[in-house]
Amino acid sequence: MIIPVDDPGDPRIAGYQGGRSINLALAERGRHPLRLAEAEAPVMAQAVMMRGRMVHPLHGEVNLQRYGRDDSEVIWSVHRGELNITLLNLAEQAGAKLHFDRRLDRIDFDQNVAYFIDDRDGRSFDAPFRALIGSDGAGSALRAAMGKVVDIGERIEFLDHGYKELEIPPAAGGGFRMEPNALHIWPRGNYMCIALPNDEKTFTVTLFMPNRGGAGVENPGFDTIRTPQEARALFERDFPDALPLIPELERDWARNPVSTLATLHLERWHLDRRALLIGDAAHAMVPFHGQGMNCAFEDCAALVKHLDAHADLADTFAAFEAERKPNARAIQRMALDNYYEMRDRVDDADYRLQRKLELRLQQRHPGVFVPHYAMVSFMCVPYAVALERSEIQHGILVRATQGKDTLDGIDWTGVDADIATHLTSLADAA
Ligand SMILES: Cc1cc2nc3c(=O)[nH]c(=O)nc-3n(C[C@H](O)[C@H](O)[C@H](O)COP(=O)(O)OP(=O)(O)OC[C@H]3O[C@@H](n4cnc5c(N)ncnc54)[C@H](O)[C@@H]3O)c2cc1C
Repeated sequence: MIIPVDDPGDPRIAGYQGGRSINLALAERGRHPLRLAEAEAPVMAQAVMMRGRMVHPLHGEVNLQRYGRDDSEVIWSVHRGELNITLLNLAEQAGAKLHFDRRLDRIDFDQNVAYFIDDRDGRSFDAPFRALIGSDGAGSALRAAMGKVVDIGERIEFLDHGYKELEIPPAAGGGFRMEPNALHIWPRGNYMCIALPNDEKTFTVTLFMPNRGGAGVENPGFDTIRTPQEARALFERDFPDALPLIPELERDWARNPVSTLATLHLERWHLDRRALLIGDAAHAMVPFHGQGMNCAFEDCAALVKHLDAHADLADTFAAFEAERKPNARAIQRMALDNYYEMRDRVDDADYRLQRKLELRLQQRHPGVFVPHYAMVSFMCVPYAVALERSEIQHGILVRATQGKDTLDGIDWTGVDADIATHLTSLADAA
């Protein structure tokens, strides 16, 4: 491991400064590019398997809804700080030169010079460039600079819900306080809590809730739950089994900010051969499908492919944008849809019946009827294809289960015919 000794901004020295979402769900879509970069093994060494959603209803039994058919179809919780450090080490070993505490401030696109500032002492640095690849996140400074030169067609759609993070520490004996191999969800209609495991035996809990509550205690919002005491009362009423697991609820509530969630719609991702945006800088999304990072890693693999295929960077960047933009739009849409599903649907009888049928149809029509979650999380099917087929499949599931409580009454011949009419093999479509 290479540890530079002279850069205090380096998280390998300063420690991970946090800021948002301590852990992230890593899926096959993200693992595949890591594999290509020979980074998968060190990342997976710190990952915790999540087999499915562990649903905590307000009344009733906690139940595991598996994501896939078995343990080959799972997702993984990775710690953001550990992931960053692993990737920094690998990048450095591969020859990348890293500079910390250099904030991109402005760009002179006529002279091809980027200006950086060290916010600790105000020193500025200029860096001549041939081309810039901006992976500087949702608030991208490169994007802002490109927007000064051309119309990039930027629109930010804020969600009227925000989030706050809390922590479940390890148990007294040092183990996990609840089932570690699951993504825990407490669905409560218009709001929800989730918890993802960390390899140091903690869970990061995230409360997603409207920014503005409605009338009555049953419609909480971050504007109505103002104090740590009000937060405790909310948890006592709505998340009673989670409350004893969060001993420092009041401290976490007071310390951690309410953060906003938004979708970035962007028409133009590159400026001829001079600059390109990837990751959140190009397509930030709400986190409800756990795909922002996965999609950003997929961007990296796509960029490498287009760099190999084109001699001119303008062609590379244009081909990259043409491939990735429709897919980013699709996952942005699915991420928004998934919020509704997680907070309101996972506990409904008709939803659970449709999930059961989905798995049966997967067995009955292998390679043709592939569940939505599998296409997004266990495969690298383009997101746009996954969205289109998921919508068709949803229609089939709704038609087949209408008025039914169990799979016993399903008209299998009718469903088979519906599938034959509307779906072809996924391999042909992808
Ligand atoms: C609550 C929450 C939960 C999430 N959960 C998941 C999940 O489970 N799975 C998943 O796949 N995704 C998840 N995401 C999304 C994921 O965090 C992002 O999609 C991912 O981090 C994007 O990576 P990025 O490199 O494009 O941007 P970022 O991770 O935002 O990194 C941007 C980098 O650029 C640097 N930077 C910013 N401005 C400048 C500047 N002016 N000059 C120089 N450097 C700069 C920043 O310091 C940072 O290092 C979640 C997001 C949130 C908010």
